[in-house]
Amino acid sequence: DVAVALRGVRFSYGNGATWALDGVDLTVQAGERVYIVGPNGSGKSTLSRIVAGLAAPDAGTVTVLGERVFDGDAGPDPDAYRRARRGIGAVFQNPEDQLVTTVVEDDVAFGPENLGIAHDDIGRRIAEALQAVDMTESRAADPTVMSGGQQQRIAIAGTMAMHPAMVVFDEPTAMLDGAARAEVMAVLDSLQARGVTIVHITHHADETLRADRVIRMESGRIVSEGRPRRDDAAR
Ligand code: ADP
Ligand code: ADP
Repeated sequence: DVAVALRGVRFSYGNGATWALDGVDLTVQAGERVYIVGPNGSGKSTLSRIVAGLAAPDAGTVTVLGERVFDGDAGPDPDAYRRARRGIGAVFQNPEDQLVTTVVEDDVAFGPENLGIAHDDIGRRIAEALQAVDMTESRAADPTVMSGGQQQRIAIAGTMAMHPAMVVFDEPTAMLDGAARAEVMAVLDSLQARGVTIVHITHHADETLRADRVIRMESGRIVSEGRPRRDDAAR
């Protein structure tokens, strides 16, 4: 099964004056764990938003979780975008922007509630997800006063409670210390073990050792891809 297929994808923030994505072809298999690396401004975040179904490109075709969401000739298909997003959990760099309530368990419930999951099932999913990120004790606490690491774990629990087929992580560990980073990596390991497709942007080379494939971007293009290498991690 193919989780993501991009063909000839181009994206501009400025009416085509410059291209943040300049002809990207990418296929991600279901269950694959793919890392995206590259210098600042190379297009990683833009690519992650397109893969997550949160932005439409200007040209090319985009298929996500079996939905043809964007087709160069026909443009975006809003219904296909809605269907695809039900199966995708996205976590970004700044955890504060992702909190929607002032009670941890309400925050984790937000995603599955939007999916129309039954009440009992949501309770079970919250308990599971909080356990997975080691935040069970904080169930009734206020996330807005917590550390960035704790907030990020709550955001991740929220996506896990959706039981996504795919997660798209855009540098979720950027603001975390070493211990919190290790916990996020352990959560990703368990998602991988469950067969969840993972697309993960990182600038921590050591994290890419767990990848099935590492994709390197420069100037809006994929310039290389392959298995993780030890010398990547040593950099
Ligand atoms: P990366 O994640 O690799 O740092 P981005 O996808 O954020 O790269 O950026 C790709 C290019 O698009 C860069 O040239 C960046 O300056 C530009 N860009 C990113 N976001 C915006 C924005 N909101 N408005 C205008 N230009 C943007
Ligand atoms: P259901 O979604 O009906 O619970 P599944 O067969 O999808 O059944 O999953 C079985 C169990 O595996 C779930 O109850 C849950 O514990 C766990 N699980 C499945 N998918 C995920 C996921 N994407 N993230 C976290 N846990 C999951």
